[in-house]
Amino acid sequence: MKYLLGLLMCANVLVDIRAGEGMWNLLLLDSLNYKDMQEKGLRLSPEEIYSINQASLKDAVVIFGGGCTGEVISPDGLLITNHHCGYSRIQSHSTVEKNHLADGFWAGSKAEELANPGLSVTFLVRIEDVTTKVLSGIPDTLSEEDRSVQLVARLSRLQKEAIAGTHYESEIKSFYFGREYYLFVYEVFHDVRLVGAPPEAIGRFGGDTDNWMWPRHTGDFSLFRIYAGKDNNPAPYSPDNVPYKPKKHLTISVSGVKEGDFTMVLGYPGRTDEYLTSDALRMISQKSLPAKIEMRTMRLNALEDEMAKGPEERLRYSGRYVGTSNAWKKWIGVTKGVERTDAVRKKELFEDSFDAWADDLLQDDAGYSVLMDEFEKIYALYEPLYVTNDLGNEFLNSVEVFSLVNHAQTDFYSMLDSSEQYKKEALQKMKQRGADFFRSGALTIDQRILPSLMAIYAGNTLPQYHPEFFDRIIPDFGGNYQAFIENVFNQSVFTDSVKYLRLLDKSPQYIRKKIITDPLVIMHRDFSRTMAFDVYRKTDSLNRELNRLYGKYLSGMMAMNPTRILYPDANFTMRLAYGRVEGYEPSDAVNFMHYTTLDGIIEKEDPQVADYLVPEKLKEVYSNRDFGAYVMGDKVPVCFIASNHTSGGNSGSPVFNAEGNLIGINFDRNWEGTVSDYAYDPSICRNISLDIRYVLFVIDKVADADWILDELTLKKK
Ligand code: ASP
Repeated sequence: MKYLLGLLMCANVLVDIRAGEGMWNLLLLDSLNYKDMQEKGLRLSPEEIYSINQASLKDAVVIFGGGCTGEVISPDGLLITNHHCGYSRIQSHSTVEKNHLADGFWAGSKAEELANPGLSVTFLVRIEDVTTKVLSGIPDTLSEEDRSVQLVARLSRLQKEAIAGTHYESEIKSFYFGREYYLFVYEVFHDVRLVGAPPEAIGRFGGDTDNWMWPRHTGDFSLFRIYAGKDNNPAPYSPDNVPYKPKKHLTISVSGVKEGDFTMVLGYPGRTDEYLTSDALRMISQKSLPAKIEMRTMRLNALEDEMAKGPEERLRYSGRYVGTSNAWKKWIGVTKGVERTDAVRKKELFEDSFDAWADDLLQDDAGYSVLMDEFEKIYALYEPLYVTNDLGNEFLNSVEVFSLVNHAQTDFYSMLDSSEQYKKEALQKMKQRGADFFRSGALTIDQRILPSLMAIYAGNTLPQYHPEFFDRIIPDFGGNYQAFIENVFNQSVFTDSVKYLRLLDKSPQYIRKKIITDPLVIMHRDFSRTMAFDVYRKTDSLNRELNRLYGKYLSGMMAMNPTRILYPDANFTMRLAYGRVEGYEPSDAVNFMHYTTLDGIIEKEDPQVADYLVPEKLKEVYSNRDFGAYVMGDKVPVCFIASNHTSGGNSGSPVFNAEGNLIGINFDRNWEGTVSDYAYDPSICRNISLDIRYVLFVIDKVADADWILDELTLKKK
């Protein structure tokens, strides 16, 4: 692949980059995308976007926590990300009396900013192409398994070497199915404090009803600040830490966006699978996703019923609800998008043309002409395993008591041969974990969803992948999952706080006996064993084989169409996407505009529906028309859409205009457009961003937090 890219560039062939599509590697911008970006309107040099010699845009873009993007917007380390990315942190500081989720939170000064243990912010220091270092000397003739053993050792050595003598962290990621490797060096900060968040009725306005939808009116932002030691280096939390002085902070444009404007997004898209074959996409969209959607629907129904019981319950379960519903709704969107764009058929047509091209080759040393048959054979074996893997993971992750069970076992066994002091501490930890768990309300949900989860799992997987405990359901419980679960819950010590805490006061021998015979432990153990021995192992070796085939497939695509540049699938490394501000046609005769305004919030208001409550203060500002400079004509802009190819993980990403100034915060995609994770379609795939002017408006006019505005660098018209 690399060599093909090289050839292309030398030959000065005009490259074909499809509109809006692609998440590009920053290291290759200059050679692959720059010309096209300039033609589309960009007015920056490649070095202003990515450079290791001078401060560039990449220095202001961070990984926020474990799965979002954020960006630095002040010389004092102020950072903006999405409200949904900061949600669990805001929730952790909330109580029924002091509910920052409901009422919003604005620190009155730096001294009032709230610490968030466990939260980190990660800066990208540099990227290096290490393909040759990784691959040289590894013979092509090695089996996939031996090859992967050699690779793991080599990657770990190179990663260590890259950061020797520094406080940095590093990671090498594979691109194009192992055709290329890039090293990423990071600097990680661990003292990150909450500065401000609007009330949920702004930050999550539209809630799950509007999530993954356009038109949208969500003020999806929250503000944090990075703190460092006195030397400006990362340091663990300390009241003595000082605001971090970043290499670069973003300039904010208040000029707004027009239809057709160039936009680009820098951030961390998590995962895409653009090059899947039609068989693979069919398997995902018609088998795995529908079953997972059904599993989550059960959990959401249970959570909704609990939340409806009162404010305490709402607060207790809302984080889980948000966490569960996000992917659930997206999966529904993907299945719709696959249908709407006819993505499977388009892939089939492409595969036919690939076959035809390969059959006509005079010489086919790579074996392109048999590639599709090879894929077909592997997918016939892979499909039942893939679906089981997916549903098994969903099952295990949905049932929270399994996490308590799992921890209890590891904690208990780790303390058996340890010192008295260690034992005491481990027991204390187990007690604390138990107390937190029983207080969390998880059991109510677990007990309610388990029977349905079992039924869905059983109905969609082959009997050979059913854990052993399934064998008892027909003989002992007449096939009734509900009765089975009731029995398990009645007998387990993990379903009763008194029994659980009492057990921990007993002798280690007694605890051991009780743990290994506990029905929930047995369920969890059977399930994990089935997954580990019957599913993961086999899937692993097929995955390696598929990786090899896909590598070949990409090389084939490049050879078949040498002017088309293929971008690498997302792998949670920093990428750049570019496109333009544009609306779309969601269905026949309907045309969606590219922006929404505060008027839409007022129109959507419904005091009876939690998702559509509007804070009094916002209504007051609206009726006084006290909009300040944050207007477009006489309206306050709220969100806009554009054709930037983004994915999960791009939440919180900066959206830039042609000059590299911040115009928006990416937070979502349109529903059917989520098919872009598998097959980007420029006619309907749009990313949804919060207009930065709405952020400023909320901070200024709704929160009255002017001291925050004073820190920002604004570029007026
Ligand atoms: N809303 C998404 C997220 O939660 C962003 C996206 O997938 O476009 O990460």
